[in-house]
Amino acid sequence: MPIEVNVTKKYGDFELMIQAAIGNGITGIFGPSASGKSTLLNCIAGFEDPDDGLITLNSKTVFSSRAKTNVSPEKRRVGYVHQHSALFPHLTVKKNLEFGYNLTEKYRRVGDLEDIVHLLQLEQIMDRGVINLSGGERQRVALARSLAASPDLLLLDEPLASLDMPFRGFILEKLREVSRGWNLDMIYVSHSVSEMIALADSVIVIRDGMKVVEGNSSLLLNNSSVADYVDYASFENILHGVVDGSVDQNVSTLTIGDVKLITPKLTSEKGKQVTISIKASDIIVSKYPPVAISARNILKVSITNINHSENPTFIRCETGGCILTAALTMQSVSDLGLRVSDEVYLIIKANSVTPMELY
Ligand code: ADP
Ligand code: MG
Repeated sequence: MPIEVNVTKKYGDFELMIQAAIGNGITGIFGPSASGKSTLLNCIAGFEDPDDGLITLNSKTVFSSRAKTNVSPEKRRVGYVHQHSALFPHLTVKKNLEFGYNLTEKYRRVGDLEDIVHLLQLEQIMDRGVINLSGGERQRVALARSLAASPDLLLLDEPLASLDMPFRGFILEKLREVSRGWNLDMIYVSHSVSEMIALADSVIVIRDGMKVVEGNSSLLLNNSSVADYVDYASFENILHGVVDGSVDQNVSTLTIGDVKLITPKLTSEKGKQVTISIKASDIIVSKYPPVAISARNILKVSITNINHSENPTFIRCETGGCILTAALTMQSVSDLGLRVSDEVYLIIKANSVTPMELY
């Protein structure tokens, strides 16, 4: 759904002043704390009124200071999930989901309640009261409740910020699935470059209320305007794969594109989707085929991008539909004489692969 935003909103010394056209798919909003990310989302959802400007959702004006238009949040058909999403505390999970579902006219419904419950694996907790849920369960319920209302647009404001690894992986996988399968556009706010690159089709970087740069999410790894507040050392590759099988009692194989990756033992059955993470700094790059080496994964890849500007240097590699980024020191890159389109070997220990499975 095309979205146009051209707004200003002042809070004391802070002023949001954004002009942006947001296209289809998943758009990331990235920026340091207090840069105005949540304010922007609140203006789009209708929870805050801009001081001035225009917002259109799918060519329909929902806010215009000039025309004095201000469509109420319920009528904007926008779903909203944030870090501490509010559920109805006195109701069960089931009743929370039914609330959104029953508010939506039949002809607008995209997914059945049953499908949503199945998608987010909520079957076991449907009758629980929502105050007894863990953080990960809450966020799954919050996402399910938003989806149950069949929104035209889903806003996600750091929905994974307080969650542990497996829950993050599960929700990332589901967001991707829903975005493609339901053709549901999303705006995703996060501090995490790893999540952005794994999920967002494009990204808008904002700072002090203003748009700094926008483009493909990979710009976050090589743009000087974000370099001073990104923790590059923690960058991880978040990848979605399909369980292929077990090799022995300690390791499994996962298919990502045409690549088979040996991972620690997975609990999911063959054919199930699993998200994994590999730290960029755990990947070793070799110019020649390594021999007699204990690491279980040796992937022949070609280098598609080298970010020369920062330390660490990120080497983006690709093979058979699988994209992996390795973090190297500048010294290593120059010692090895690495260049874009070189073929190299990535060495990854099975134990450097972290499964993000729910169970
Ligand atoms: P971010 O989500 O990027 O961390 P916010 O949009 O929450 O940033 O906040 C941007 C700035 O606006 C901050 O300085 C914040 O204190 C201020 N702000 C946000 N909401 C309000 C509000 N309702 N009243 C007063 N100031 C606010
Ligand atoms: Mg915020």
